[in-house]
Amino acid sequence: MAQKNIKIHILKTGEVRVSPYLPFGGDNCSLLKASGITTPKSKWLWLPVFCFLIEHPKGLILFDTGWHREMSPDGVYDKQAQIKSLGSWFLYQINQGRIANGEAVDEQLMRLGFRPSELEYVLLSHLDCDHANGLRQVKEARHILVSEDEMTGTKRKNFQIMIRFQKQWWEDVDLKTFEWNGTEGPVGKSYDVLGDGSLVMVNIPGHSEGLCALKIKNGEGKYVLLFSDGGYATKSWRDMITSGITLDKKLQRQSLQWIREQSMSPDCIESIATHDSGINAHVIEL
Ligand SMILES: [Zn+2]
Repeated sequence: MAQKNIKIHILKTGEVRVSPYLPFGGDNCSLLKASGITTPKSKWLWLPVFCFLIEHPKGLILFDTGWHREMSPDGVYDKQAQIKSLGSWFLYQINQGRIANGEAVDEQLMRLGFRPSELEYVLLSHLDCDHANGLRQVKEARHILVSEDEMTGTKRKNFQIMIRFQKQWWEDVDLKTFEWNGTEGPVGKSYDVLGDGSLVMVNIPGHSEGLCALKIKNGEGKYVLLFSDGGYATKSWRDMITSGITLDKKLQRQSLQWIREQSMSPDCIESIATHDSGINAHVIEL
């Protein structure tokens, strides 16, 4: 058996509270319903927020950044702190977050014996708060990247976009954008990060314009798929349940179909959504 040389740490960086229609609203869910404004808080769900640290022969790579410590300065739910960190009272109405002491990404890196400056890459799947809000905690990383399509998408004059994406999470960070350099995925847009096919950002648009899954592949062609918010759990691709928060429903469904095919392949070792409450923090060796 070949030696395993890639290690993936699944780290839980707090939790997000959303209406059940946001993750699992399906194809006919309205934005109003997904927002939770019409649903009592007792029915809302607390979902985990994962980020992923990859120990790769070519360096240390982080995929997404979870919540910033400033969301919960004392490690517990803090309404005022959240509104400030999210940068929008409206956004706070749609999702709330909490992060216990020791769970912020920089705190977890330290626990594992790493410093943010040792990160070769920080890759952002997209720029929603629960993925990009923690970015400033790892701003010393050597390369910080998001897709050009995602960055362009955050600048559109659209009510949903103006609430969802707050540039205060990245404006003081040396965040660079990348252009697609490959044709993998549901819309034929991908970015081979290291140039050897072992780490590919695959565009899975719908939830946001430049949303990417990360496909981590070993020398034998076995892979782990981190599909971010392309679905909210394993049941999303198993039962083809699209989430209620989308910018393009048709593309979202097309992306979910691709996630399904990728996840069902015998070469797929694990397929993980960022907010799957059925998954615990663990380590994968590939
Ligand atoms: Zn998310």
